[in-house]
Amino acid sequence: MDIARIIKPWQRQPHKAFVFTNATIIDPVEGALIPNATVRVADGKITSIDTSETATEGIPEEDTIDLSGKYLCPGLIDCHVHVAVVPGEADLRAYKDMTEKVSLLRQPHVLKTMIERGFTSIRDCGGASLAVKEAVEDGVIPGPRLFIAGFALSQTGGHGDMRGPHSEELCCGGTISGISRIVDGPAECYKYAREELRQGADFIKIMGGGGVASPTDRIDHIQFSDEEIKAIVTVANNAGTYVTSHSYTPQAIQQAINLGVRGIEHGNLIDLETAKLMAEKGTFLTPTLIAHVMSKQMNFLPAESAAKNDEVLEKGLRAMKMAVDVGVTVCFGTDLLGPMHFAQSKEFTVRSKVLTPIQILRSATINAARLIMQEDRLGQIKEGFTADMLILNANPLEDITVLDRAEQSIMGVIKDGRVLKSRWEKLTAEA
Ligand SMILES: [Zn+2]
Repeated sequence: MDIARIIKPWQRQPHKAFVFTNATIIDPVEGALIPNATVRVADGKITSIDTSETATEGIPEEDTIDLSGKYLCPGLIDCHVHVAVVPGEADLRAYKDMTEKVSLLRQPHVLKTMIERGFTSIRDCGGASLAVKEAVEDGVIPGPRLFIAGFALSQTGGHGDMRGPHSEELCCGGTISGISRIVDGPAECYKYAREELRQGADFIKIMGGGGVASPTDRIDHIQFSDEEIKAIVTVANNAGTYVTSHSYTPQAIQQAINLGVRGIEHGNLIDLETAKLMAEKGTFLTPTLIAHVMSKQMNFLPAESAAKNDEVLEKGLRAMKMAVDVGVTVCFGTDLLGPMHFAQSKEFTVRSKVLTPIQILRSATINAARLIMQEDRLGQIKEGFTADMLILNANPLEDITVLDRAEQSIMGVIKDGRVLKSRWEKLTAEA
């Protein structure tokens, strides 16, 4: 009797070993192709990469998968998602009434479709719970590997406070509002940053400036005092992790990074001086442009938010290009809410208007891996790395938008050495 399997009957079968032959590996570090590679995968890891002519000697052909004409690309990493804001409603207002239970039951759908689009890791910037992260790790539900913030920390009346201006309902320290927690003053900042870490947060997300979807703040507001941000940064750093801040304007970004914040989310209104400061300090930038494009197309936001949205969308593309040009490490993010998750890969197409394919691919692989502190195991097809790989039938270094056409281009999605999605008869997905 296999007691472990009786206790956790969803436990996956042991890893299969794979030998991929004639693979063309996409190397995001060099921005180059490595042709004719034999790639061995065992126990969820890439165990060897051999480009010599004798690489396949002695391996029975039936034990190999011939990747002639195909590309092996590192699994994609989306650094800004909200899996808890699930599809099912047409606009943001309706989400006020969505309960955690309803959301939780729908999250497996969100995760499964992310895998189908080629995302093998995601960083959730507010809302996803440790329970969901563990359910994926355990094999209860298929999905990308999660790195979670727990609830984002917001001040009263800040980007995370979903009460409208006529609400007189007071909320006390640590109250949860949507994907955020409301905290005011250094004492609450210490306490609830520690609470998030206790409840499994991999990093801390703060609402460090005004936002688009929030009802009572303005984009150009600074949020949190220096003392409050310092408290949160101290808690994160003491626990060996980092803080990332939702910030659009140069003032909000400068405040955050001068206080030790490691990542900036969105950053649409960045100016040259701030971009240079970010490059100098090694701050990561995660733009999320598709969220603005889709919010507009789908009328997702109420009128007061829609006007804010137009402003930031316009400037976002230019800001991202400027940041890349001065040497900021730019990561891939989407920030799609509710019914918009389907558009996740359209971020590739949006970015292709101003960036080169390799710049964009790096943002979703090696740059993202560094931001989430996983650069020693994720983001590359390299010996010893986790076997997160996509089998593509088109070269994203020539045209990055092939990643936006998963049905045609992504033949297989392998995470942890397991085939989670196949669109190719030579590759069988695990049930
Ligand atoms: Zn977000």
